[in-house]
This record gives sequence, C-alpha cells and structure tokens, in this order.
Amino acid sequence: MPSTTASPLMDRLGRVHTDLRVSLTDRCNLRCTYCMPEEGLAWLPKPELLTDDELVRLVAVATERLGVRTVRLTGGEPLLRRGLPGLIARLTALPHPPELSITTNGIGLARSAVALREAGLRRVNVSLDTLRPERFAEITRRDRLQDVLLGLAAAQAAGLAPVKVNAVPVRGVNDDEIAGMAAFAIEHGYRMRFIESMPLDAQGAWDRGRMVTADEILERLGERFTLEPLPRSGNAPAEEWRVVGTDAVVGVIASVTRPFCGGCDRVRLTADGQLRNCLFAATESDLRALLRGGADDEAVEAAWRASVAGKGPGHAIDSPDFRQPDRPMSAIGG
Ligand code: SAM
Ligand code: SF4
Repeated sequence: MPSTTASPLMDRLGRVHTDLRVSLTDRCNLRCTYCMPEEGLAWLPKPELLTDDELVRLVAVATERLGVRTVRLTGGEPLLRRGLPGLIARLTALPHPPELSITTNGIGLARSAVALREAGLRRVNVSLDTLRPERFAEITRRDRLQDVLLGLAAAQAAGLAPVKVNAVPVRGVNDDEIAGMAAFAIEHGYRMRFIESMPLDAQGAWDRGRMVTADEILERLGERFTLEPLPRSGNAPAEEWRVVGTDAVVGVIASVTRPFCGGCDRVRLTADGQLRNCLFAATESDLRALLRGGADDEAVEAAWRASVAGKGPGHAIDSPDFRQPDRPMSAIGG
C-alpha cells in the first residue's frame, strides 16, 4: 500500500484512529430481536443517504489525510446496498486503498461473494446466533438460516478469509449453543466470536441480566474445549484463544464487562453522513452537510479531526448517568 504522510487522527487521550466503520444503509432484511423491532424502523429517505461519490470522497479523505487504514462496511445490512461490488472496486482503487472488510447477516452472500472478492473485499464477518432453523426464525423473525449457511460457505470458497462468525448470546434464548456454535465453526474452518449484547437496540429493552458475560461464555466453552490464550493483536476488541488440538481460534468481544475503550481506534460514519466518534456518542458531526455545501477536503479533514478530538474516554454503560444513544446499532453501523 502506498505510504501516506497524514498526521495521525488522534484524540485528547492520545488514541490514534486508524479504523473506520462505514454504514451503507440503515435498512435490513432481518429483524433480530436484540437489534430491531418486528415492524422495522423509519428508514432514512434515499436523498439523505450518502451517494457512492460522497462515500468514496470521504474514505479518500480518511485514508489520504487522516491515516485511516482499515475500513469495515456495515449497516443495517450492507449487502442491500445497490452496486456494492462497484463501490468496493472504487474504494480499492483509491491512491491509499484501505483494507476492506464487511459485516453482514450473510443473506445474499452466496450470490455475491465472488464478485465482492474480485472487487477487492478482503474479509467478511457473518452474524449468526443459532444453528437451529426454528430458533433462527424466532431470533431474526425470518426463516433464512439456510441462506446464511450457504453465504458462509460461499465466502469461504471465494477466499474471504478468515471467515468470522459473530454471535450475540442472550440468556434463555441461545446461550445453550455456545459450545455447539464453536464446534460448528471449528468443523468448517470459520473463526467464531461471541459478543456481549449492548444497550443499542432500537426498542431500548436491553437487560443486563439477559446479557451473557465473557466469563460465562468462557465457562461454557471450557466445558467442551481446552483454550489457550493468544496475545491480543493491536487494538482489536476481541480477546482470542486457540482451541487446543485444533487450528481454530475463538474470540470474545466483552464490550460491557471488559471494555476496551482505552485502546479504541475507531470512528464511525453513518449512512446519512454523520461522523460518530463512539458507538455511544451523544453528538455527531454532519459531514454530509459539509460535502453538499461545497466544502473542500481541508474543511472535511478539520471537521473530522475536531470530532475525534472531542471523543470521550469510554462508554460508561455502568454509570448511573448512562444514556442510550438516540440512534440504535442498526442506524449507526455496528
Ligand atoms: N446486518 C449486519 C449484521 O447483522 O452483521 C451488520 C449490522 S449489525 C448492527 C452488526 C453487528 O451488530 C451484528 O453482529 C449484530 O449481531 C450486532 N448487534 C446488533 N445489535 C446488537 C446489540 N444490541 N448488542 C451487541 N451486538 C449487537
Ligand atoms: Fe439486521 Fe444486523 Fe440488526 Fe440483525 S443485527 S436486525 S441482521 S442490522
């Protein structure tokens, strides 16, 4: 990758931000209970979404002027974005191309994996919370487990490696499948990761008691596997373990009980062009207004730096003053 002389995108605490999450749409074809209500949400009107040209320009500013090196496409469901391979190809053709990955529910991946890989996508994370069809339909309110499994296999075959499977265990819903899902991932050569549920659902119904903690996840895994801790890679939020006797690695993202805010290197861009310096940020910077108002790249860079400079130290979920952000995860870009 050509080197960039951009000065680092640093906040007041010295955290350098090299990772950008870009939401491509707030829409979704599933309705995961811990994320969205059954009826969906009031989707953003199309004119409010960043166009491909606007997105490419913002990623160019991020990579050329701000030192961003990795970009993850997400949503909503990013595979719903029309012309996605074309957008990926444009991002890959930038002078300082980011390492591109995607987080998806996997529906439609069976059809698109090869085109995405050929366009320059490097890796994929597929969200999957259960291997049981009826349970999948209960959790996501859609009967689409088979599509997700086919999508996973297609991603693997297309070389979008390592294919990661992300599951959010919820007590009394799918927490009895933790070891079984890890076994499934080991068998197929996927990298399994469990994520603590966070207060980012649209309904505001998150219940700490239903969150399955990292300690509990590890206990369940320990009943079936012997785990050997791996050194943490950079600022990665996942803690990882090698499954002894296999090549497999499992990870836990303990956002709530073992927060990694101190090493956070992420900023987020919503599908309507609002920059968020944290998943839990109370304020946003309107980059879309700047772009549509004719601002030059220098002004966009300045706004971006100002937003990151104002980043808070952490999410404070445990504080009595904690307030869930107005936007749910699906509209921020998880
Ligand atoms: N639709 C895509 C998907 O499901 O992968 C991308 C967007 S989704 C918001 C990104 C990730 O956020 C998924 O892995 C999902 O499980 C996770 N997620 C959604 N709501 C969550 C919550 N309340 N707490 C923790 N993770 C959540
Ligand atoms: Fe859609 Fe992903 Fe939210 Fe599920 S978690 S409803 S797939 S955005």
